[in-house]
Amino acid sequence: MNCPRDETELVIEHHKGIEVDHCPTCNGRWLDHHELDELEATVAQEHERRATIEYSKRPSELNCPVCGERMRAFNYRAYNLEIDTCHDEHGFWLDAGEEGRVADIMEERVKGLERAANAEESWGKFLGNMGNKGVWDNIKGMFGGGPKR
Ligand SMILES: [Zn+2]
Ligand SMILES: [Zn+2]
Repeated sequence: MNCPRDETELVIEHHKGIEVDHCPTCNGRWLDHHELDELEATVAQEHERRATIEYSKRPSELNCPVCGERMRAFNYRAYNLEIDTCHDEHGFWLDAGEEGRVADIMEERVKGLERAANAEESWGKFLGNMGNKGVWDNIKGMFGGGPKR
C-alpha cells in the first residue's frame, strides 16, 4: 500500500494488536476503518457518533490507498480537523500532526461531558466504556500522546 499523498510505500507498524500503516516520508498514517471506530467507541454512544462524526463533507484531493478511488474529506466532529476517508470504508488518512489533535479532541469531549448537567447518563455510559480502553490507550501511545507536559 502506498501513501495517498506522495506514493511512498507505507510501513506497517504494530502496536499491541493494532495495525497502522505509516508513511516515512510525510509521516501521515492510515487507520483501518475499524480502528477509528474503536477509538470513537470509548467516548460516545453508537447512535451519537454515527450522527455527528462527519461535518463539512467535501471531495478529497487524495485517492484511497486500498481501492484507488477518490476519497472524501470531512471535518471531525465540528472541530477543524480534516480527515480523508474512503467511500467504501477502507479506512482513514490522517496527515502528520493530526493524530495529536484527535487525542486533544477526545480530552475536550470528556471535559464537555463532565460539565453538562444533564449528561449524567451519557457520562455513566462513558465510564462504562472506559472499562475497555485498551484500544484508545494503544492509539494514544502509538502517536506519542501521553500525560500532558
Ligand atoms: Zn506520505
Ligand atoms: Zn477504498
